[in-house]
Amino acid sequence: MLTAEIIAIGSELLTPDRTDTNSLWLTEKLNGIGVEVKLKIVVGDDDARLEETMRDAVKRSRIVITTGGLGPTEDDITRKIAARALSRRLAYNEKVLDGIREKFVRMNRQMPEINARQAMVIEGAEVLDNPNGTAPGMYIEHENRAIALLPGPPREMRPMFENFVLPKLTTKAGDLRVARRILRVAGLGESAVDSTIAPVYTQYENPQTTILFNRSEIEIHLTAQGKTESEAELLLDGLAGQIEERLGDAIFAFRGETMEQVVGLRLAVGGFTLAVAESCTGGLIAERLTDVPGSSSYFLEGVVAYSNDAKIRSLGVPAELIEEHGAVSAQVAEAMAEGIKHRAEADFGLSVTGIAGPGGGSTEKPVGLVYIALADDAHTEHRKLMLPGDRQLIRWRASQAALDLLRRRLM
Ligand code: ATP
Ligand code: MG
Repeated sequence: MLTAEIIAIGSELLTPDRTDTNSLWLTEKLNGIGVEVKLKIVVGDDDARLEETMRDAVKRSRIVITTGGLGPTEDDITRKIAARALSRRLAYNEKVLDGIREKFVRMNRQMPEINARQAMVIEGAEVLDNPNGTAPGMYIEHENRAIALLPGPPREMRPMFENFVLPKLTTKAGDLRVARRILRVAGLGESAVDSTIAPVYTQYENPQTTILFNRSEIEIHLTAQGKTESEAELLLDGLAGQIEERLGDAIFAFRGETMEQVVGLRLAVGGFTLAVAESCTGGLIAERLTDVPGSSSYFLEGVVAYSNDAKIRSLGVPAELIEEHGAVSAQVAEAMAEGIKHRAEADFGLSVTGIAGPGGGSTEKPVGLVYIALADDAHTEHRKLMLPGDRQLIRWRASQAALDLLRRRLM
């Protein structure tokens, strides 16, 4: 795989005033042609730092792209420093100078003398036209490296990259197609997932595998390259299949779907209906489920029964059960699930009760203790969870675990 690095130039990009968005945009474009960005750097308008950075960049990366610092002012140093780092001469190019003069004529303005600087071209560089500004870019092939110097303003940089640089890099990358897939895992920790599937994915350089942790989900990102799209997809099928063999139904999505989409689809396909009773998640499960278009075909009702009284009144939980076991208990969770199922006349009743913190915990029932329960016509089951994290995370993880309990029942 060809590797690239991006250097964003400009002191303002080091401050909170301006964010380097160019590199993110460029990375997406480069990934799209199968070029991996291994590094990006933000450098201020400093001769010495930029020179060091550029020298290092051409040593380690086949493709180096800089943005910014091509303006006409003293602090626009990219041209000068790039020439120095590559040990190439910098000379006035009359044709480029004429082009810049013309732009000013068309704008009905006198060209300030400092703009002549923008006609300085590095020896051997191809000049890249800038229809949206005055600063031309440059493209240089240097010791088997491709170096592109692009302007900073996104509206100047983007078309220049797409029109002139991308076609060249696509040829270099051998016109490979890239396919991606996101697998999502529930109920397992990051290290458990990694140790289970590492023996499989480490055997492959293509597809590449990245494991990301995202709230209570593990995401497995697969990226494959092939001569055609279907060849790349086939490589993904192969590795995804092997990962599935190892992780089984802990994988809930193969195409990046959310848990609520997966659960919703299963309910819809089976023609089932669902109602939920929530305490510590405060409606989060209902919110997630109803976020999915078409959820009205299976989602009947959600009750947020926060107080004991609400659990008794709205869900028919026996008062004695709460007195005996407490509101956060397996018994109450099951009674809530059965209560909402009965009340809504749904095929499934799903419930959550727990302690999201930060207060309200005890040694016996600490923060993070959550019970989830699921009732259908045949039986009711519950799970006891000890969830790590702050209040928000505990709530989100509880909602995820509850939805996952239902997903597994629906399989
Ligand atoms: P100009 O001729 O406009 O001076 P330039 O190539 O010298 O072009 P800079 O002066 O470095 O560009 O940047 C001009 C403006 O472009 C910045 O103020 C900023 O708004 C935007 N810009 C520069 N670099 C980036 C970046 N990496 N990401 C997003 N915006 C940027
Ligand atoms: Mg500038």
